[in-house]
Amino acid sequence: MDGHAGPGTVARAGAAMAGHPMPVTHAPRRPARADQLGFFDAGPPLPPADEMYRAVLERDTRYDGIFVVAVKTTGIFCRPSCPAKKPLRENVEFYATAKEALDLGYRPCRRCRPLERPGQTPEPIRALLEEVERDPTRRIGDAELRRRGLDPGFVRRWFKANHGMTFHAYQRALRVGSALAELARGAPITHAAYGSGFESLSGFHDALRRITGLPPSRSRAVRRVLLTRVLTPLGPMLLGATEKGVCLLEFTDRRMLETQLRRLARRLDCVFVPGTNEFGRRLEAELEAYFAGELRTFETPLDVSGTEFQLRVWDALRAIPYGETRTYADQARMIGQPDAVRAVARANGDNRIAIVIPCHRVIGKDGTLTGYGGGLWRKRYLLELERRHSGEAPARGA
Ligand SMILES: [Zn+2]
Repeated sequence: MDGHAGPGTVARAGAAMAGHPMPVTHAPRRPARADQLGFFDAGPPLPPADEMYRAVLERDTRYDGIFVVAVKTTGIFCRPSCPAKKPLRENVEFYATAKEALDLGYRPCRRCRPLERPGQTPEPIRALLEEVERDPTRRIGDAELRRRGLDPGFVRRWFKANHGMTFHAYQRALRVGSALAELARGAPITHAAYGSGFESLSGFHDALRRITGLPPSRSRAVRRVLLTRVLTPLGPMLLGATEKGVCLLEFTDRRMLETQLRRLARRLDCVFVPGTNEFGRRLEAELEAYFAGELRTFETPLDVSGTEFQLRVWDALRAIPYGETRTYADQARMIGQPDAVRAVARANGDNRIAIVIPCHRVIGKDGTLTGYGGGLWRKRYLLELERRHSGEAPARGA
């Protein structure tokens, strides 16, 4: 993350393949939201007003949970992504939390319901997810959804928005993930297919080809990345883990999720399957501590791939202490190539493990923040968080 994306260019690209298996939302135990942290005495960190107003005009879901917009003429406040008609700039006020707007007498909008936690998985969906993850061979169709009092259209829209695919595709992705894991363990193809809930070998071949582009015989060696969605005070992130460690942590763009995943899978040369593992869970816990100001050094093993040059640049990033910053020129000197400033900046921009490989700690030589793939306001937030907590004795890490 980071690099050259200019100010305001939020979420860069990332990855992956259409129809691709995607992240699972694990409900409990997520990092606290900005409004629960309370470490910004000078008021919670809001993006610049121009950026917020643009987000409102564009109904940008990435800003949901980051601020609410209150309309002076109607006395109502909304999420940035509210579908209602957009207010004039001179009539709006921005607040970091719904609480502030409520305290000032604003009423919550009935259409976008700004009091509900954004990104939170609705209870009936959470139950569905748990069920299909526990047993990928389980198939839940529209009739079954209706029997449970769920509108299939709602379920489809929620999965498209949060996982970049329909619920049916999600279930298929889980079955493919399960079968790929079996194949990697050396199971015969028939065993892998039927054991993972496919009703025929041809159905398995089709699903597999759609996801990996490979026939089952060549799928044993494919690099599988377990992908999950993690909520942070800065919005949702995608967390990818292999059997060696965490290989991906990026801010997501809900509107672009499918495209983002397709590009990312190509870049990482992998197949995404929904799920997580010990490394994913460990990093999730570390992120929670990091955002609470209690962790300075991430210890979750990483599975980093890149050129020899990129690896050196990223090692240099990890050598920048918590709470400090360096310039691109400093970083180029750190790797012994003082003339490679631009190449260093480019390699920082190719970093796929945001926050853990702290490309946010590199700034311009005049002290300006310069670019950050996740958006400059996120970079500002991370630096401010670290600055505030760098003077204290760390609870853990060092
Ligand atoms: Zn609204």
